[in-house]
Amino acid sequence: MTDQEQPAEGDSASPHMRGAKFFEALLANSGDVLTLLDGQGHYIYHSAAIREMMGIEPEDALGFFAADIVHADDRDRVTDRIHYCLANRGVRLSENFRLPHIDGSWRWVEADVRNLLDDPDIQGVLVVSRDVTSRRRIEDHFSIAETTAGFGTYRWDKGCEAPAISPALARMLDLPEEAEELSDAAMYELLHPDDVERVSTTFASLENDPKPFSLAMRLRQQDGSYRHFVSHGFPEIATNNEIISVVGIMDDVTESLNTELSLKRTAEEYRLIADHAHDMFARHAPDGRVNFISPAIKEVLGYTPEDAVGQKMIDWTHRDDKAMVEQKMEDLRNGAESVLMTFRLWNADGKFVWLESTVHRINDEQTGEMIEAIAITRDISERKEYEQRLLDARQKAETANRTKSTFLANMSHELRTPLNAVIGFSEILKRKMYGPLGDEVYDEYANLIHESGTHLLDLINDILDMSKVEAGKMEIEPEFIDMVEIVETCMRFVEAKSEAKNQRMQLNLLTPDLGNSAYADVRATKQILINLLSNAVKFTGEGGSISVDLQSLPNGLEISVCDSGVGIDPADIPRLLRPFEQVADKSSQAEEGSGLGLALTKSLTELQGGAFRLESERGKGTNAIVTLPSAHPDLQTGSARA
Ligand code: ADP
Repeated sequence: MTDQEQPAEGDSASPHMRGAKFFEALLANSGDVLTLLDGQGHYIYHSAAIREMMGIEPEDALGFFAADIVHADDRDRVTDRIHYCLANRGVRLSENFRLPHIDGSWRWVEADVRNLLDDPDIQGVLVVSRDVTSRRRIEDHFSIAETTAGFGTYRWDKGCEAPAISPALARMLDLPEEAEELSDAAMYELLHPDDVERVSTTFASLENDPKPFSLAMRLRQQDGSYRHFVSHGFPEIATNNEIISVVGIMDDVTESLNTELSLKRTAEEYRLIADHAHDMFARHAPDGRVNFISPAIKEVLGYTPEDAVGQKMIDWTHRDDKAMVEQKMEDLRNGAESVLMTFRLWNADGKFVWLESTVHRINDEQTGEMIEAIAITRDISERKEYEQRLLDARQKAETANRTKSTFLANMSHELRTPLNAVIGFSEILKRKMYGPLGDEVYDEYANLIHESGTHLLDLINDILDMSKVEAGKMEIEPEFIDMVEIVETCMRFVEAKSEAKNQRMQLNLLTPDLGNSAYADVRATKQILINLLSNAVKFTGEGGSISVDLQSLPNGLEISVCDSGVGIDPADIPRLLRPFEQVADKSSQAEEGSGLGLALTKSLTELQGGAFRLESERGKGTNAIVTLPSAHPDLQTGSARA
């Protein structure tokens, strides 16, 4: 500023009386920058305040096109605005942009621009601008605060059809950020139809009762879904006591509302379950006192929940179960996550009820200490009664079976003695050891007595063996045996009967190189083979064939007794393996027997650590397959040894 531009000291005339110097001085001291552009948009004048705004002298920036010195991001916009302004005489507009300061910073400037090219005194475009950097900074901070706090702001000026919204609120509503002004229609489109009336009424009521308000509403998103908002606002009152605007914040409460709703729903569901379940749900204090118990207590124990709250369940526990229940609760207090216990409680009628409880420990989140125990308890009286009945029945059955086995063992023994006399003496008669019998008929009778006696003895021996097995008294002494030798002996035993029926009988060694020895009891093995071979001969007709196949397996020896006889219906097989069972259809077989042979064979095989199975079909012959161990159990490959 030059000296002659300084206002004259002591000049006290009124402004309109003063000269050009006064206005020059006024201009030089104004905080706003006054700039003049020529018809091409070039700077032709800057007032002194440009020093403050840009840190340069007023004459330094003259001659430039106005937009050339603004921030690159603002340049195109500002250029367009200048051209628009230059093209329209008398037009007035305002614009925000950034100008560089000599200290290197950018300053936000708000400019009021007016085309005065037609004004003979000015003949230029007048730009009045001021530094709004600090205001912009506050606005930026506010916008950050808005975004991080998750709310948006709005301002509804009187006379405007809809509120102006902050960029943060625009984002929350899923609108483009620059959508600062909503239209009336857009606003009602956003608002949930059910909320329109309430929102309108609240705003309208401010007219008579201008006070802060809180208002919940649902606003629509672009995808058509609604989110829940709460608006806290207040009216701004002008000097004439009229409302000039309503300002407020909008808080999106959808998440918290949903959480609250789902918590409420979960609690409701639990309550429903607790109310209607047959099981009792209870919450106990660490000392065992009942804090809560579900209504099922009425059904289970005959008490109401009110009777039980505050009581200790241990006081209602059966004397014999008290110690166990206390121990379990102690385990829980000592850190067990949950315990399961079966115990008896006294019910309202003075009878005990069998219960099963799963009790879970609830910890204090901070200290980890047990603050509560949750028990789910079920009435198991019926199950207990059933278990008891089953136990009684089993005991009875076991006793009966033992009695039967003992009786049979004794009886068989008692029967054998006289029978031996019958067989022995009929043998003497048969052989006529002391001379002829007289009449031939006696010969025949002696033979019949001997045959029947022998059959009866076989039967008694089978019964005796079966009873021994069932009583667990059958003794087995396994040793290494050559199965070929044993099979041949047994074959000789049935040879006569087989030959009488013209049957072919043979032994096949399927794995001759691997040997045919087994680790088995000689007597039991012979009994098995004689049983199977006798059945094969018995149930195979004239001219049929019978074979015994020996095959070595990794852990045993397989003996298959195969015949081409009448066969068995597979459905009958499981039954035939049980003692005293014969196929029902007697017409299919004219043979007599005890029905014990197969059951005994199975038991004797299993007693030796082997397995027995039958493979057969009606009319297609039968395979009876016995597997016996081939080595001492401790030496078997694959068996785990301690
Ligand atoms: P039993 O022969 O003394 O009656 P078993 O237990 O040995 O008693 O046999 C039971 C039944 O199984 C026999 O009555 C018979 O019907 C049937 N059965 C056993 N072996 C054969 C076989 N090889 N072929 C056909 N049926 C058989």
